[in-house]
Amino acid sequence: MAAEENRNAAVRPTSGVDDKPLWSHVTVLSVAAGGGGNRTWTCNYCSKKVVGSYSKVKAHLLKLPNHGVAPCKSVSRDMLQQIKEEHDEVERKKSQEAYQDKQKADYLSLPDGSDLQQHKKRKGKEVGPLEKSFNISQREKTDKQCARMFFASGLPFNFAKSPFFIDYSRTLANSSLSGYTPPTYNRIRTTLLGQEKEHVYRKLHPIRDSWMKKGVSIVSDGWSDRQRRPLINLMAASAGGAMFLKSVDASGIIKDGEYVSNVFEEALHGFF
Ligand SMILES: [Zn+2]
Repeated sequence: MAAEENRNAAVRPTSGVDDKPLWSHVTVLSVAAGGGGNRTWTCNYCSKKVVGSYSKVKAHLLKLPNHGVAPCKSVSRDMLQQIKEEHDEVERKKSQEAYQDKQKADYLSLPDGSDLQQHKKRKGKEVGPLEKSFNISQREKTDKQCARMFFASGLPFNFAKSPFFIDYSRTLANSSLSGYTPPTYNRIRTTLLGQEKEHVYRKLHPIRDSWMKKGVSIVSDGWSDRQRRPLINLMAASAGGAMFLKSVDASGIIKDGEYVSNVFEEALHGFF
């Protein structure tokens, strides 16, 4: 949850700062249709009515020339100083944030260097139309982002060979889903997992169908997973093919005949 909030904050770089503080010195009467920041407002000091965006608010109150709005006649020299400070303070904060964002971006930037064959051959030469069309630099950037995903998430290098990963990447590259974002953590572990399970279940239907006609044997084997837990796999072997039924974690249990027969019996109950 906290991570999600952080990400949202990163999307809005000006989150902590009200970056248009001088709006508080005018009264907004209406917002222009169609957006664009234009508003109809009156000055709180001279009651002048203006249609325009924040730059006109600024120009009016700070008495800036050449902004298509007359300077305020009711803002005294002292008031001008105060409003100016208010404005400058926000500008300082904004440039500070922009600087920090840039530093952050530099820190997270991708490594230099190229290993793509086409690029090496042509290095130092002008970028030809072929190279442009293959978009070499964008490819390199994407490769590096992909590699970083492996390193930062502890993905096994073997995952690069996963046909599902390759499928997904190809879909991304070849589709025109502009603005697509990957499914969220929660959607993967709930809705999408449920759909996939249902799909597999349906695919196995012909095998289950064959059991009644041709018979089925429940078989099992024992093995240890990476955490050295003793697991017992139960499978249904039939003429239609083998099918995984379930696995039982037998940690701390003596696997004698009685226990194993119980495991089989339970599996059988799942059938009938
Ligand atoms: Zn005014």
